[in-house]
Amino acid sequence: MTMKLLSVASEIYPLVKTGGLADVVGALPGALAGEGIESRTLVPGYPAVLARLGKAKPVRRYSDLFGAAASLLAAHVGGLDLLVLDAPDFFARDGGPYGDQGGNDWPDNWRRFAALSRVGADVAEGSLKGWRPDIVHGHDWQASLTAAYMRFGPARAVPKVVTIHNLAFQGRYAAEIFPALGLPAEAWGVDGVEYYGGVGYLKAGLVSADAITTVSPTYAQEIRSPLHGMGLDGLINGRVDRLHGILNGIDTAIWDPSADPLVPRAYGGRSLGARADNRRVLERHFGLDRGDGPIFIIVSRLTWQKGMDLMADAIDHLVGLGGRLAVLGSGDHALEGAFLAAADRHRGRVGVRIGYDEILSHLMQAGGDAILIPSRFEPCGLTQLYALRYGCVPVVARVGGLADTVIDANEAALAAGGATGLMFAPDDPLALHGAIGRAIALHADRGLWQGMQRAAMRADFSWTRSAGRYAALYRALLADPA
Ligand code: ADP
Repeated sequence: MTMKLLSVASEIYPLVKTGGLADVVGALPGALAGEGIESRTLVPGYPAVLARLGKAKPVRRYSDLFGAAASLLAAHVGGLDLLVLDAPDFFARDGGPYGDQGGNDWPDNWRRFAALSRVGADVAEGSLKGWRPDIVHGHDWQASLTAAYMRFGPARAVPKVVTIHNLAFQGRYAAEIFPALGLPAEAWGVDGVEYYGGVGYLKAGLVSADAITTVSPTYAQEIRSPLHGMGLDGLINGRVDRLHGILNGIDTAIWDPSADPLVPRAYGGRSLGARADNRRVLERHFGLDRGDGPIFIIVSRLTWQKGMDLMADAIDHLVGLGGRLAVLGSGDHALEGAFLAAADRHRGRVGVRIGYDEILSHLMQAGGDAILIPSRFEPCGLTQLYALRYGCVPVVARVGGLADTVIDANEAALAAGGATGLMFAPDDPLALHGAIGRAIALHADRGLWQGMQRAAMRADFSWTRSAGRYAALYRALLADPA
């Protein structure tokens, strides 16, 4: 029999995306379909989402959802079966999904995402005619209260999964909001939503879920330690029998160098020469001088997590060794300024675009020689997976999903022809400098570099295996509810 899954998330590619979460939420339904799982995904009705809906059918109306009128719309977009929470008071705003154009979080995020989660629990309780999920899967803190509402309500027996895409974002609010959440008094406590005297959305999900997953095996281990546990390591260790590290996959139809409409010249492992044309377009785009040394790329949020402070400081070193750099990103204003200043200092060697540009990111992966990812922590990371597939050699910190997906070009791996990238540790300037130097030296040996590119392109990070693991987890939960 077909299993019915409700996913709840605050982003979904291609409708709304600020990071890897959207890619995963957008790709999973298709991958799970191959496992006989029928998914519907509940997302907020941001303007960008509503604009893409076309024919949408209201399937439920709310006259008072946390003080707002709202309706739930059912729609199909690009192969995705969506439930969209159309609540203009909460979601009809200019700016991003979580904050205004100036980057300030919306002050009522607690209410916006409590509303989303409440509706998720309603669907689990059977509020839609003719469709009731067998499993409910919430992604990150924005959807985590779904599990709590379910646990303290009539849908408590429906298995619930919470996935941590990034433990750094937890949805912590003052205790004063608790009465407005509409949870029973018993939900207040260490075994409920209470978290260090306030309300913790992710925490509430983690104690309420029947299974907790995170997006790589190494990150699943790391978050058990105080260094990476962000205050939740104690709780996670207490529930370690429920914890699973399942690596993210990538959508290999969207990210396919042999058939990508967003890159000037398609290529495969046997036609790497065609990358040179893409590289030329990349040079022009970023105002880089032509040259033989490698072009490093960065496609990233410009934040401390991503090690972008270390990176900005390493640019002079990179240029001094003959490298060039193309940067696409946005984030901390100070870091944006540091990258722009480096571009000024090194005209023709460093080009910087501040902003978010999905199309440009494809060209960069297709024309860059190596991608730099010096993250301090990285739950999974998708940019290195796209880079592997595009033969843009990843140079990464040895953390989280980066450690799980890149094979360092040490002597053994080079001898066996298995190296797919370069890894460094610890996350300090010296190690980063060393990795950049190593990449430039390896790049000078054309045969060896192309061997690495081909090995990288052969690595299979499609969703097939990971979807199988999610499906197995869902089946186990259904067979043996907690
Ligand atoms: P995170 O979700 O922590 O930001 P991931 O590597 O998991 O990091 O996912 C980032 C996703 O966002 C990738 O799909 C990447 O290509 C994309 N991305 C990040 N910054 C930009 C940008 N400035 N322009 C275009 N795409 C970006």
